[in-house]
Amino acid sequence: MQNHAWLCDVRSNPYAEQLARGFRRLRFPADLESEYRAYRLEDSFELKCTALGFAVLAWLALAAVDFLLIPGAEHWTMLAVRGVVLVLLVICAALILQRRFAPLMVPLSIACILAVGIGAALVVGIAHRVDHGYPYEGLLLVSMAAYFLVGLRFSEALASAVLILLAYLGCELYAGLTLAKLVNNLVFLLLGNLVGAVGCYLLEYKSREYFLSSQLLRQMAEHDALTGLRNRRSFDRQLERLWRQAQRDDAPLALLLCDVDHFKAYNDRYGHQAGDSVLQRIAQALQESARRPLDMAVRLGGEEFAVLLYGADAEEARQRAQVLCAAVQALGIRHEGSTTAEEVTLSIGVSCLRPGAQIAWPVIYAHADRALYEAKAFGRNQVVV
Ligand code: GH3
Ligand code: MG
Ligand code: MG
Repeated sequence: MQNHAWLCDVRSNPYAEQLARGFRRLRFPADLESEYRAYRLEDSFELKCTALGFAVLAWLALAAVDFLLIPGAEHWTMLAVRGVVLVLLVICAALILQRRFAPLMVPLSIACILAVGIGAALVVGIAHRVDHGYPYEGLLLVSMAAYFLVGLRFSEALASAVLILLAYLGCELYAGLTLAKLVNNLVFLLLGNLVGAVGCYLLEYKSREYFLSSQLLRQMAEHDALTGLRNRRSFDRQLERLWRQAQRDDAPLALLLCDVDHFKAYNDRYGHQAGDSVLQRIAQALQESARRPLDMAVRLGGEEFAVLLYGADAEEARQRAQVLCAAVQALGIRHEGSTTAEEVTLSIGVSCLRPGAQIAWPVIYAHADRALYEAKAFGRNQVVV
């Protein structure tokens, strides 16, 4: 719908790719789709609550109007229908407000709108048996609520509105409304639904677009543009969280502080662009060494990286750091300006702590930093714990 040419500048990422590809059918691939639906559920919760409150009040007010408009026994039947719908609404509202049954949120919302819609169709049908002038336009209001107020997706809202329309048609056939009036009412309701459906489609398109761009912006704010690794800001936030988790689990945390050896010399000899692609290849090696769910790799800045290993003791951390050192050297990136080896190498300072209540998380940086300083002083391309 919009020109997203700027996306070419963004590293490939699922949000950017989906934005560029478009989504006319209002559908993403499975993973992204379930992420969007979870976001949407959260986003539409307050709207749902407001709509429920409004529906209950409007339903009660209209019950009073029935008494004024429809004489005789019919209004008791209408009242009975309104009573059943009200009970359904209150049960659904109670379940929705508890927020405990996330997978039930959408079915419950659909149940609410169908209860009100089919109930309204029944009320209109009963009234039309005695008075063809009883207003049927309330059904359009229910459809509009389905499209805009309940937080339903386009397909769900459209299906609900069609069902309500069919229920209305059935009720009018039962009431014996004249053909001319029935056609007139149906045309009015269909046109109203068309407006609602178009609006609902555009709204969902915009909501999906907003979801993708906000997730994309978050990714860009949390990741380094050159390597795609986490940046220091988001890493620190995660580290703080994992620090507290390690305190609770009494688990060790290991930080591997990595610095590329003689990188200034590499830039001087091969150029800054070649240096950039070296950083990217090293970042990939780091990412591969942080495969477990709570492990993290980060570009701290320049040619400095870190890997956090959750639950790794000092011995395991040393081994994994050595594997990482060997993996970087094994990339075989020639570095004639290095006095350490013929290839690009890495020095790693490791600090391993069991976070106690007395120590704060930045301490782990300080220890790793000292170890890295020693790794450089002892001749580089090595690990110091
Ligand atoms: P040492 O072995 O002691 O770590 O020496 P070094 O040359 O690696 O360390 P130094 O801190 O003197 O130099 C770091 C260099 O990293 C300087 C800078 O040009 C380079 N650098 C920092 N960020 C980038 C980047 O994004 N791209 C490229 N190509 N180079 C970068
Ligand atoms: Mg450095
Ligand atoms: Mg360096």
